[in-house]
Amino acid sequence: MAVRVGKRFTFDAAHQLIGHTGKCANVHGHTYTLEVVLEGEPISAEQPSDEGFVMDFGNLKRIVNEQVVDFFDHAFLAKGNEPILEALYASGSKIALIGARTTAENLVFFICHKLKQAGLPIYSATLWETQTAFAQVLSSEIPDEGPSYRANGGCDVE
Ligand SMILES: [Zn+2]
Repeated sequence: MAVRVGKRFTFDAAHQLIGHTGKCANVHGHTYTLEVVLEGEPISAEQPSDEGFVMDFGNLKRIVNEQVVDFFDHAFLAKGNEPILEALYASGSKIALIGARTTAENLVFFICHKLKQAGLPIYSATLWETQTAFAQVLSSEIPDEGPSYRANGGCDVE
């Protein structure tokens, strides 16, 4: 019988939506909350240490930190077309290059694909850009070759 388990993470990052007609055209930051949900059968008694787990929460924490949080935290999230990138590279500032417009929608595609590639039995990923705005994707919706990013997408400016 399958069961879903999840864990929440937070990281701080800056970004800029080039071409946005509102406030998100400015360089600004968010404290993002990421919720990762796994789905699987609890492990059998043949592996006593992990018996009853889909995955030990400690292992889940380590993998998501290595794959996602360490990459994004205190970075400038970049599509690659932001004029500020030159100055950030010159000053040695941390940059997380996504290769797509850094909307919550595209970021959650990127994150879910990365975790799927890392071998996690991921069911869904939800990325909260603010306390009231999120984007969510089911792992099953992301093709193995990776997400096809959209040019559009919102930025919550409450
Ligand atoms: Zn934003």
